Amino acid sequence: MLLHTIKEVREQIKQWKKEGFSIGLVPTMGALHEGHLSLIKKATEQCDKVVVSVFVNPIQFCPGEDLDKYPRTLEADTQMCAQAGVDIVFAPTPTEMYGEGQMKSNDFLTYVIPPFFQVNKLCGKSRVGHFDGVCTVVNKLFNITQPDFAFFGEKDAQQLSIIKKMVKDLNIPVEIIACPIIREDSGLALSSRNKYLSDEDKIHALALSKILNNIKNCYNQGVTDVEALKETAYKFLNENHDLEYLEFLNDEDLEEVSTANDDTRVFIACKVGGVRLIDNIKLG
Ligand code: AMP
Repeated sequence: MLLHTIKEVREQIKQWKKEGFSIGLVPTMGALHEGHLSLIKKATEQCDKVVVSVFVNPIQFCPGEDLDKYPRTLEADTQMCAQAGVDIVFAPTPTEMYGEGQMKSNDFLTYVIPPFFQVNKLCGKSRVGHFDGVCTVVNKLFNITQPDFAFFGEKDAQQLSIIKKMVKDLNIPVEIIACPIIREDSGLALSSRNKYLSDEDKIHALALSKILNNIKNCYNQGVTDVEALKETAYKFLNENHDLEYLEFLNDEDLEEVSTANDDTRVFIACKVGGVRLIDNIKLG
């Protein structure tokens, strides 16, 4: 069922809790693809009732980002969810979530701010305030749907790490389930933003997964020096690529490493045809 208001969702969840059902939440911004579906599939296997939220969260977009043009395909999303056995698609308006906002009436003022050491790197560096918006909306979605389990993709590995920390720090009674990255056969990680790519951009976009796979191959052949591994990336990059970062961090605490090991995750962000793409791979 498609619900737009917090009240309706709460009433349904209350009923299900009374009946002893477990609840799974899959937060999304919609424009659903196989990546999202893999999270949904896991949720339906593991939980009695599954809620998918579809909400393009304005407070996680920075000025000049793609908030207005972000793809919105609620009808198709709802159909996909129905076929996948989802019980509730929760698609609130920004006003439902934030009232008139803090600019107009102080309707919304309280943010959840993740720790600096988690946001002063990777996407947090260029997208200032982004993870405040993510943590705040995820917290609200947790409070609205009270899930036993919530499903997040490793595609957004920094986000996943930040949310796990938030759940631990704030004693939120939910178990976070991490789901692997789903890719096209070409290697390109699925993303709603791939819709912005032209056919030619899509070919250039393959550089991200090629760089990551090549680094993993080199690591498997015994190269562990991060500078040497970074060097291997440049042969995949040309004037069609605007590399934002290529970083090697410990998967657990996102601390930078200079010698790679099995716990290292390699993160890349690169603009192709003006579209900002991210990807990552665990070396172990
Ligand atoms: P989004 O709609 O982009 O906010 O993504 C919603 C959720 O789907 C997040 O937890 C993402 O990490 C996850 N997700 C997006 N793309 C993929 C993918 N290619 N593979 C696995 N999970 C994904």
